[in-house]
Amino acid sequence: MPELPEVQTLVDDLKACHTIGARISKVEVHWPALLAGSETFEFKQKLAGTVIKDIRRRGKYMIWTLAADCHMVVHLRMSGRFYFAGSGEKPAKHVHLVFELEDGRRLMYHDTRKFGRFYLVHDPREVVGRLGPEPLDKNLTSRRLAKMLSRRHRRLKPLLLDQTFIAGLGNIYTDEALWEACIHPLSIACHLSARQAASLLRAIRKVLRQGLDKRGTSLGRGLNNFALLSQQAGGNASSLKVYQRADMPCPRCGTPVKRLVVSQRSTHICPRCQKLPVDLSKS
Ligand SMILES: [Zn+2]
Repeated sequence: MPELPEVQTLVDDLKACHTIGARISKVEVHWPALLAGSETFEFKQKLAGTVIKDIRRRGKYMIWTLAADCHMVVHLRMSGRFYFAGSGEKPAKHVHLVFELEDGRRLMYHDTRKFGRFYLVHDPREVVGRLGPEPLDKNLTSRRLAKMLSRRHRRLKPLLLDQTFIAGLGNIYTDEALWEACIHPLSIACHLSARQAASLLRAIRKVLRQGLDKRGTSLGRGLNNFALLSQQAGGNASSLKVYQRADMPCPRCGTPVKRLVVSQRSTHICPRCQKLPVDLSKS
């Protein structure tokens, strides 16, 4: 599933392709269930003729500003991706939306699992208003994170995946950050020391920045995986330390990486570097 680095990379790619300033001439909708809360007719009518004024990211959402009171908020969910079609190219099997631009280009939305969502709203806060802070925002200090953690009697992994606690993290970068900080995913948030909270924030930023530098994580080349606007794979998979590396040696200590299931999510840890706190391992 695309997380902060993947969504940001896609936003950056769209901007680099001069999508800002382009006028949408027509929209084709082949799978109306993707349109959260709008009828197909209304969606097509509202978008036709609008100029894309801005595209930005908040958490794992893309926010397309089309007018002061018209925003298309996109969540790629499991397998959503965008690409520009070649001239005369027919939409592929899993293309569910086509944005025709006035300059002749066609932007395809491809989604094998069809879980992506497109919200057309007056104010993006209607969709993203409840999201927690951005992990790369300098206003999120280690002190603030420590305070946020101290108020939550919840296991760390599901808490970090909770978008209202902190925005943009998913399964991959959460596992990588917890490994980086040597913290067990089942640790209780409010039991973390101020030092551990600071180390966790540093780790989250490190893995996200690496993901951004390497242009996102594609776990394979299949159509379900994240792809860049160019349809190529992101380059971060080979830099992952524990995620989907069960039984392979921990890069820090050589102990085989272990796979656990935490809140129904596959979780990867080094059992030596990430010790379960004693009070929990007894219960
Ligand atoms: Zn280790």
